Amino acid sequence: MISFADLNLSPELQKAISDLNYEQPTPIQIQALPILLGDPTDFVGLAATGTGKTAAFAIPIIEQIDPENKSVQILILVPTRELALQVAGQIDLLGKYKGIKSVAIYGGVEYAEQNRKIQQGATIVVGTPGRVVDHLQKKSIKLENLKTVILDEADEMMSMGFRDELETILAAIPRKNAQTWLFSATMEKDVRRVADTYLRNPKQVQINKTDVIPSTIKQLYYIARESDKAEILCKLIDTADHFYGLIFCQTKNLVSDLSLYLSERGYRVDSLHGDKDQESRERTMRAFRERRVSILVCTDVASRGLDVKDITHVVNYSIPRELESYIHRIGRTARSGKAGFALSLITPAYRRLILDLEKITNSRIEEGQIPTRKEIGVKKISKLLTTFQDQDDFVRAQLLLDENWKKALAGLTSEEVAARFLTMTYPEIFIDKTATQNSARRSSLSDNQVAGRPLASSEPGENRRSEERPDRRGNLRAGYREAKRADRKYGARNGRRAGGPSDGSRGSFGSR
Ligand code: AMP
Repeated sequence: MISFADLNLSPELQKAISDLNYEQPTPIQIQALPILLGDPTDFVGLAATGTGKTAAFAIPIIEQIDPENKSVQILILVPTRELALQVAGQIDLLGKYKGIKSVAIYGGVEYAEQNRKIQQGATIVVGTPGRVVDHLQKKSIKLENLKTVILDEADEMMSMGFRDELETILAAIPRKNAQTWLFSATMEKDVRRVADTYLRNPKQVQINKTDVIPSTIKQLYYIARESDKAEILCKLIDTADHFYGLIFCQTKNLVSDLSLYLSERGYRVDSLHGDKDQESRERTMRAFRERRVSILVCTDVASRGLDVKDITHVVNYSIPRELESYIHRIGRTARSGKAGFALSLITPAYRRLILDLEKITNSRIEEGQIPTRKEIGVKKISKLLTTFQDQDDFVRAQLLLDENWKKALAGLTSEEVAARFLTMTYPEIFIDKTATQNSARRSSLSDNQVAGRPLASSEPGENRRSEERPDRRGNLRAGYREAKRADRKYGARNGRRAGGPSDGSRGSFGSR
């Protein structure tokens, strides 16, 4: 197996790699680096997020840059602003000792600042396709001296509808000098067509999906009725030793409802979905990275490229529409040999999808037991013990205890005192269920309600608003078409009848 030292990298790059604590190249890097650091060639790398694919192309382009040439030499196209910022950030870290900096360009912000950065002599531009086309049309980006164009997450760019923009950009690149590298998690028809049209004899490497599921991820599924999911999720969070996690939902409605529900229950939660503007997304991401927020509820698209260290849990509130997204999602936990949990909530009718997932990922997904009230109680009170012991100011409270308190305490053992305190702190654990059966039934109904309206469902047909498309009727039809397409693709891959039954969540009508 090759190491970074075998790759003949410049000392500056080696130092940057060692600053990042990359000890060994990842499997995609082992395969791609010798090719991309060699003679110019077109290239296809089939690898998902989390495999280290960014560094697999960032390292060679940093070595390629001619510092004397102040025009755009490298163009990297990515599906989202988050990924643009993240890829640019990684390039800057790897290029820091060579004085190489990249410029991220994306929609939703003014052009002026981006123009200024490009004009200052940007050699590497990382951008979303729509904004890159705008800059090309305004002639603020010129591609005459381009050495390499990289399509990152090509499948995602296609599924987000960037085909025309990609073709416009690729057609504008002078073919004779520039090489094209395409990275994608999957090689679907649209991506294949782009590769066939624009790449010349590309060298190809592929990382098997099974290689990207770290053995340190524990995958569990929980059978849950749609109406019970929110409640079960809380139980899973409450019984985790530590929960710093992502919760994936299919639609932005569900993301909003669920994050409100969790926040009203006292969790430190925030959300990411396509309706949020750039500033509020960045605020959310900062809060999550700084751990002021420990739960981030998000859609797949909004979370694209989200790379946060030490995530302990990824929860699939619903199984993703494209089952391959499952791998993307859960790859966000258990990084760098750490342990992580991937928990999936699934309605009884779609239990069989677990078998499909096990087949696709060639891994084991065990059925988890929903924690009992007693288990939750034990966990909650054990978590409280350290705080209980850390109460340095209790003497002040003691001074306030009058004769009545003293008399009341005199008849109690210390365990009874603690037990009363715990009952007051967590009444929900200790309430006698049988005595309050009727009201409990009512409250379980209200668990699925936020501010008087029901929690959006991930079942088909119940989420009618789409994240990307504003028109209601159009949404429904667009979402339906999308669900059918996903079904056909998935059905065909698994030898099932096209358009056959699918997971309710996967087939939900809202788009991501
Ligand atoms: P990516 O698949 O490019 O999104 O990378 C996923 C994560 O792996 C990022 O946080 C990288 O910084 C990290 N990474 C990339 N290459 C290596 C490596 N050789 N060793 C350890 N971590 C790496």
